[in-house]
Amino acid sequence: MDTMINRKMFADVMVPNYSPSQMIPVKGVGSRVWDQAGKEYIDFAGGIAVNALGHCHPEIVKTLKQQGQTLWHLSNVWTNEPALTLAQQLCDATFAEQILFANSGAEANEAALKLARIYAKQHFSRDKTNIIAFVNSFHGRTLFTVTAGGQAKYTEGFEPLPGDITHLPFNDLAALNAHISEKTCAVIVEPIQGEGGIIRAQPAFLEGLRTLCSQHNALLIFDEIQTGMGRTGELFAYQGYNVTPDILTSAKALGAGFPIAAMLTTREIAASFTVGTHGSTYGGNPLACAVASKALELINNPTLLEGVKQRQQLFANGLQQLNNKIGLFQDIRAEGLLVGCELKQTWHGRARDLLTLAEEQGVLILTAGPNVVRLTPSLIIPYPDISNGLKQLAQAMLAMKVGY
Ligand code: PLP
Repeated sequence: MDTMINRKMFADVMVPNYSPSQMIPVKGVGSRVWDQAGKEYIDFAGGIAVNALGHCHPEIVKTLKQQGQTLWHLSNVWTNEPALTLAQQLCDATFAEQILFANSGAEANEAALKLARIYAKQHFSRDKTNIIAFVNSFHGRTLFTVTAGGQAKYTEGFEPLPGDITHLPFNDLAALNAHISEKTCAVIVEPIQGEGGIIRAQPAFLEGLRTLCSQHNALLIFDEIQTGMGRTGELFAYQGYNVTPDILTSAKALGAGFPIAAMLTTREIAASFTVGTHGSTYGGNPLACAVASKALELINNPTLLEGVKQRQQLFANGLQQLNNKIGLFQDIRAEGLLVGCELKQTWHGRARDLLTLAEEQGVLILTAGPNVVRLTPSLIIPYPDISNGLKQLAQAMLAMKVGY
């Protein structure tokens, strides 16, 4: 432990756009994490739906080491074997025919929105520019994606914002029907709103989006940055809905902890990104692609995906039982291993307090807004870690109830 490095430094050397917890994790194995003082935690946070295979998965570590001794980076002046392999795997596993790599979810969505605009101009008309997004959605923090996101608090102060983006209520097909027109170039949606509080799109809503987009020559973009890569028990959530988008974005768990993102689409749509129209220095980097290729191979496996559904039941039942006794939550929403527990009115605004109390008890959890506690553990979290972590969470819930 390097005692010279401590949490107090954060205020001195880091831009204050975050307020991290007081302890600094220094080591992780599977679903366990240790802090500087050696205290052990069970990890129900999973790096916010990133560490799909837990911390330091041996096969991922092996792949990273191998690629690290082979080839790190080239730029897009040359392609590389890991990028081609990963692109082929993604095409084989989904509706997609062509892939664009990026480094973060926001960048993948930025690419998707740019592609939708240029595709509409090339194929239809110059004023087919309107993008429809949904209230409470989250699509990243670049100026374009944060504007597409439906949470005003994230755009305040950054005006002027990119134009011609409309926000409609989520799960309201009538509102979409009333607004969509020949001017609409794309509809972007999270099949399950993650940051917005784990709110599932109704199947009829997504089916309706598909029909209306097709009728109006608008591209349907599924942001699966949080819901993809096995999180819901399907490789991608759209596969459970049986609604196929035109563009899908993936990030977070795609690299199992190594930064990488992808935009998946059809050959016909991809053709609008001609040489020079879009790019990224690191997009398709061999290190990232090699790791993601191994992660995809491990996650796209029926046994692992079935395990997600079993673990979902353990979380859903376990949390329900705790709540029957303690009564903190008004709703528990488990969508695979994307779990949201909405606090009752009395505790509104206190999700972050529960996170702090849980950490004291030795379990790491997340929030999704001020009123929802979110769990996004590893997809292979061991069963005893689930039961033990829930016991620790119960202690935190009790502490909150008796008046933290
Ligand atoms: N889209 C969704 C649905 C997300 O949950 C996130 C991140 O939380 C993003 C986009 C942005 O991804 P990134 O933080 O990698 O830019």
